[in-house]
Amino acid sequence: MADTSADVIFSGGTVHTVDPARPRAEAVAVRGERIVAVGATDAMMPLRGPRTRVVDLRAGTLLPGFQDAHVHPIGGGVDRLACDVRDIHPRSAVIDAIRAYADARPDASWIVGSGWYMGDFPGGTPRREDLDAAVPDRPAFLPNRDGHTAWVNSRALELAGIDRVTPDPADGRIERDPDGTPSGCLHEGAADLVERLMPPTTEDEWAEGLRIGQAYLHSLGITAWQDAIVHPNNLATYRRAAAEGWLTARVEAALWWERERGDEQIEEFAAASRALAADAGRLRANSVKLMVDGVLETFTGSMLEPYLGPDGRPTANRGIDFLDPAALGGHVARIDAAGLQPHFHAIGDRAVRNALDAVAAARAANGRSDTRPHISHIQVIHPADIPRFAALDVVANAQPLWACHETNMDELTIPFLGPERSRWQYPFGSLLRAGARLAMGSDWSVSSPNPLEEIEVAVTRVAPESRGRARAFFPDERLTLEEAIAAFTIGSAFVNHLDAETGSITIGKLADFAVVDRDVFDRESGAIGEARVIATFVGGHAVFEDPALGS
Ligand SMILES: [Zn+2]
Repeated sequence: MADTSADVIFSGGTVHTVDPARPRAEAVAVRGERIVAVGATDAMMPLRGPRTRVVDLRAGTLLPGFQDAHVHPIGGGVDRLACDVRDIHPRSAVIDAIRAYADARPDASWIVGSGWYMGDFPGGTPRREDLDAAVPDRPAFLPNRDGHTAWVNSRALELAGIDRVTPDPADGRIERDPDGTPSGCLHEGAADLVERLMPPTTEDEWAEGLRIGQAYLHSLGITAWQDAIVHPNNLATYRRAAAEGWLTARVEAALWWERERGDEQIEEFAAASRALAADAGRLRANSVKLMVDGVLETFTGSMLEPYLGPDGRPTANRGIDFLDPAALGGHVARIDAAGLQPHFHAIGDRAVRNALDAVAAARAANGRSDTRPHISHIQVIHPADIPRFAALDVVANAQPLWACHETNMDELTIPFLGPERSRWQYPFGSLLRAGARLAMGSDWSVSSPNPLEEIEVAVTRVAPESRGRARAFFPDERLTLEEAIAAFTIGSAFVNHLDAETGSITIGKLADFAVVDRDVFDRESGAIGEARVIATFVGGHAVFEDPALGS
């Protein structure tokens, strides 16, 4: 007789399924890669055989694995190999850390790092002299945490030939002193003037970055993600990981739309997508990333109305459209017609509108497709555009950790938007009430990839660092815990075209789980962001396990 016993049974805690047909259960059984039973603990006993592993949830919560709908795992991993100043504050400590890193590497021809926080520097823009003090002898290049601004030293500016007469490139801006001298920050495309001179990252370094990034994301309960910027070299990294058998996450790759090029790219994307479809495994490349604008902190986010100046009066600046709005609809219609998913970066209200208009053009040309367009970041949405997400079936891809009062928001954003537009930021509650689908992601390494911290902010609109002290950031836009967990599981699974197979704990679906160390629905159990993931399973196999879990 065939062995019908389960390979793994999870019991001893709460199962939050994200399946409306059975929201809660006590236990789950898995055979092979799939869920074979969900229900009461007693009901699992007939499935328990001599080789069945029983995982005791220890009064914790079993959730569907988190899916990060917008993340940069390879770059995030590589950042951890270089001079990573993400957790270092204030300014003086950042400079000391860079100096120590450089001093420890006398043979490095460049000093490369990342992760500084704009709020640590006056006006959000550090100066070249500060970096010269840490690295006087070699070029140094450090993008900030969001990757939209690079801090460079005098040696790097010299090498790139950037001086007071160098014009700003069309897709970026050189930060300058009043006399035009570059002061040390290069925004958006201006950073390429230096970056193109740097020694390229090697294939092995990319692979090491992916190993580090994947292990880190698994340790946070993440089982699948959409990589939001994949160039051909990083697609090769993923393919290598898949071929060598160590790609344990399910990955959707968003292939990078080069803004200097046109529709001829679409056939290349489609070819890359087809090549993977043959032996897909856990890797797919069905998405195309379109960067519509920049960010508000550097006034490169594309706005319908001008930014305000320091005096509170409108300036002449409405930000930058990286992609010509008149051409965007045509590109998106052809991406959609090729069966590929448009994944937009849109921060400002004009960028969000341009993206929605482009999907409207695609819908008009192609009818309703199943490519599932999504707009990431959605920082400022004009109220008139909120119902369009549901009407056009565009997924709102939220990075909830940003929806709180912190220095970037209070000092570098709100004063330049003014009160009315400030209220339009991150309107997640309004989007859900208007019937929009919501997905969630971290944008790591821009910010923490811990889904439990992100979910906490989606629910409280208060940063974990100022928990219990700060006021909520436009509290009408808070979500319930159930809504936030659904966005981070089934919502992101929808974006990844994985919702038929993952995203909820449902019989027949793949056994992708996160085990959390407490009942997150118990109000007595503390802040959600303080909870910890103690095990992560993909297809029934543990990809992360806290030794404390035992067996
Ligand atoms: Zn991103």
